[in-house]
Amino acid sequence: MIIRRSHNPAQTQVYFALRENSEEATAVHRQPVEQQKQFWADRFRDAGWQTGRFLDGMWDTEFFYSQEAVQVRTDTWSRGRVALVGDAGYCGSPYSGRGTSAALVGAYVLAGEINRNPADLPAAFATYRATLRPFVDRVQGEVNPKVLRFGFFRKARRESASSAPGRRQPRS
Ligand SMILES: Cc1cc2nc3c(=O)[nH]c(=O)nc-3n(C[C@H](O)[C@H](O)[C@H](O)COP(=O)(O)OP(=O)(O)OC[C@H]3O[C@@H](n4cnc5c(N)ncnc54)[C@H](O)[C@@H]3O)c2cc1C
Repeated sequence: MIIRRSHNPAQTQVYFALRENSEEATAVHRQPVEQQKQFWADRFRDAGWQTGRFLDGMWDTEFFYSQEAVQVRTDTWSRGRVALVGDAGYCGSPYSGRGTSAALVGAYVLAGEINRNPADLPAAFATYRATLRPFVDRVQGEVNPKVLRFGFFRKARRESASSAPGRRQPRS
């Protein structure tokens, strides 16, 4: 899936998204940026529309970001004097949205509970969890698998795109 959006007349944002369960797709985001760009160029080459222009822009841009879309679900948000807030504890994923809201609301609730219970952090963390959990469950529960499937390349087409000859060489 390719999404293009412009929030000012001078800049365009382009999103490439892929549904792929290979080890390479999971590991590539921890590789050097040039390798990440090559991964996306390989997957989307010949995809049609304005893809060539977008891929050229990807090689040139300083604003490149590549990541696996994941959702963090854990029953425990604290241990000892340490508590998790935001994505670290309950990342929603771009497919549910509201990650920023969950992080801000979580920080607000946590700060309030610590302020109410400064001498008893386990109690503060327990109330933090009890208060926020329903909100987080609602945010995370709104990932609809049908949304994930919508618009993604079919497997056969993705394989033919990724096996196409003529890899572009990373720029030096
Ligand atoms: C492509 C994309 C689009 C998104 N769109 C939306 C949207 O439209 N609406 C929305 O609500 N949410 C959106 N989100 C989600 C949102 O960005 C996150 O949910 C939100 O930023 C979580 O805030 P956070 O403070 O928990 O984590 P972060 O914003 O990730 O902040 C964590 C910070 O910790 C720093 N850090 C990491 N490790 C260390 C370390 N060892 N020492 C010191 N600092 C460290 C990082 O550099 C970072 O600054 C999107 C996310 C992505 C990836």
